[in-house]
Amino acid sequence: MRGLMMDTPLLVSSLIRHAAAVYGDQEIVSRTVEGPIHRYGYADAHHRSQQLANALASLGVEAGDRIGTIAWNTYRHFEIYFAVSGMGAVCHTMNPRLHPSQILYMLNHAEDRYVFVDQTFVPLIEQVASQAAALKGVIVMTDRASMPDSTLENLICYEDLIDGHSDSFEWPEFDEWTASSLCYTSGTTGNPKGVLYSNRATVLHSLTVAMPSVLNLSDSECILPIVPMFHANAWGIPYATAMTGTKLVMPGARLDGEAVYELLNDERVTFTAGVPTVWIMLLAYMREHGKKLNHLDRIVIGGSAAPRSMIRAFEEEFGVEVRHGWGMTEMSPVGAINTLSPAMRALPEEERLDIQSKQGRPPFGVEMKITDDAGNALPHDGVAYGELKVKGPFICSGYLGLEESEAHADGWFDTNDVASIDGQGYMQIVDRKKDIIKSGGEWISSIDLEDLAMGHPDVMQAAVIGIAHPKWDERPLLLIVPTSGRTPNKQDILSYLEDKVAKWWLPDDVVVVESFPIGGTGKVLKTELREQFKNYELP
Ligand code: ADP
Repeated sequence: MRGLMMDTPLLVSSLIRHAAAVYGDQEIVSRTVEGPIHRYGYADAHHRSQQLANALASLGVEAGDRIGTIAWNTYRHFEIYFAVSGMGAVCHTMNPRLHPSQILYMLNHAEDRYVFVDQTFVPLIEQVASQAAALKGVIVMTDRASMPDSTLENLICYEDLIDGHSDSFEWPEFDEWTASSLCYTSGTTGNPKGVLYSNRATVLHSLTVAMPSVLNLSDSECILPIVPMFHANAWGIPYATAMTGTKLVMPGARLDGEAVYELLNDERVTFTAGVPTVWIMLLAYMREHGKKLNHLDRIVIGGSAAPRSMIRAFEEEFGVEVRHGWGMTEMSPVGAINTLSPAMRALPEEERLDIQSKQGRPPFGVEMKITDDAGNALPHDGVAYGELKVKGPFICSGYLGLEESEAHADGWFDTNDVASIDGQGYMQIVDRKKDIIKSGGEWISSIDLEDLAMGHPDVMQAAVIGIAHPKWDERPLLLIVPTSGRTPNKQDILSYLEDKVAKWWLPDDVVVVESFPIGGTGKVLKTELREQFKNYELP
C-alpha cells in the first residue's frame, strides 16, 4: 500500500525560500575580499540570488549547465550556490589552491560554461581560461570600482551582471535527483574525480548536519565556517544554516589567527568548524596575545585527526566543547561526529580525551562497517580494525564520467581509511591506507604517533612517514615543526614517547623542519614529505 503524502521534491531552492520566509532578518556577515565587513539578511540573500538567476538565464545558462566558482566564503558565493542549483544548473566549486593544470583539467572535464572568481583568483583563471573549451566568460565577484585589470576577453563584473534584473525568479520544480553541485576530490594521486551531489542528497544532508548531535543548528546559534565553500560545500553548512536560520559568518580570504579571532568575538560566534591547521594558528595567536573566547560554545575539528593536545587546549584552556568530526568529499561530506553522553562528559579528563580522540559516531544517514582484506565484516569491539566502508543517501554512487568505480564494489563505498568501531558506535581512524607504516609485517599508525608527539610542549606540528628499510620494509621517521621559541631535542622527544608506545613503534629518527607542505584542503601533504625524504638514511 502506497502512502498518501504529497510528492514534493527535495530541492536546494526550498532552503533559501524557507530562510527568506521565516528568518528573513537573520544575518549573514562576511569579511569581503575587498576588505570591509558586509552584512545583510537571508531575505536580501534570496532577492539577490533571484537577480543572479535571472541574469544567468539572460546569459543563456540552462538547466544542467555546469557553472564554476573559484572563491572564498562570502555572501556572493552564498548567492551563487542558491542561484545556480536553484535554477537547475550545477554549481561546480573549485579549490584555488590546486595547481593551474588541475584547475584546467576540472574546467574541461566538467565543461563549465561560466566561472565566477574572486578578484584574488583573476591571475589564476587568466592562465587557463583560453584553454577551457566550453568556457564563455568569467564573472569577477566584485563591484565596478574594484574590477581588476585583466587580459581576459569576456570579463564580467558581478554587480553589473545582476544590476537591473528582477529580484523575483520562479524557482522551477524538477526531479530531486537532479544534480545540484559538483566538487572534485583533491587528486593527490592521479587526476581529480568529480563528486556530483544531487538536490535530494543535499537537502537530506542538511537535515543531518542540523541535528543536535551533529552541529545543533538553529536561529539562536551563530556559526563561522572556516571550512571553505570550495571544499565539500563547506561541510554543507551554507545549506544547513539556510534550513535552520542560523546566523552565518563568513571569513573571506583572511584565515589567520587574528582575523578569525576578531570574527569569533565581534560577531558572538557560538560555533565554528575547520581543519586542525587553522586551529593551530588560532591557538598560537590567542596564547601569544592573552586572548579568551567569550562567546564560543563549540568547535568542530575535522578533515585530519584532531590532536589530543588540541582537544585539551580548547576544552581546558579556553572552555570550548570540541566535536571531533570525520568525513569525505564523497560523503557530502559529514560521516561521523563525536559528541559525548552526559556520563562520558563526567569521566576523568584522560578517559574523556580517549573517547574524544576518536572520530565519532555516524549520524543518521550514514551506515558503517569495517572489513578484512577478503571483505568479511569485523566486529565492532573497539579492537579489531580494517577497511572502513560506508553507505547512505548522501554518499556518492560513482564519479562524474566514471559511474563504475572500484571504490563501490559491493554496494558500499570504500573510504580507503582503516578504522576500528567500538561497541557504542564510536569509530576511530587508524590511518589512511596509503599512510600506514608497514614494519615487519605489522602496522604502525602514523596518526597515533603524530598525536603523541604533539603532546610534547616543544612540538607544534608532527608528521610521521615510512622510510624504506632493508630488514623491516618500512620504519617511522618523525618530522616536527617546533613550537615558536622552542628548540626541541631529538633524544628528549624520543624519551617522551618511550613509555607511551610499544618499543617497535618508536620512530627511528626525528627531524626538525621549519614548516610542512600544506595541501589544497589545509592538510599536511604526506605525499610531498615522502618525496622530500625518499633518500633519507635512517641512523
Ligand atoms: P582529501 O583526500 O583531499 O583530504 P577529503 O576532504 O575528501 O579530501 O578527505 C577525506 C579524508 O580525510 C578521509 O578519508 C580521511 O582520511 C581524512 N580525514 C577526514 N577527517 C579526519 C579525521 N577527523 N581524522 C583523521 N582523518 C580524517
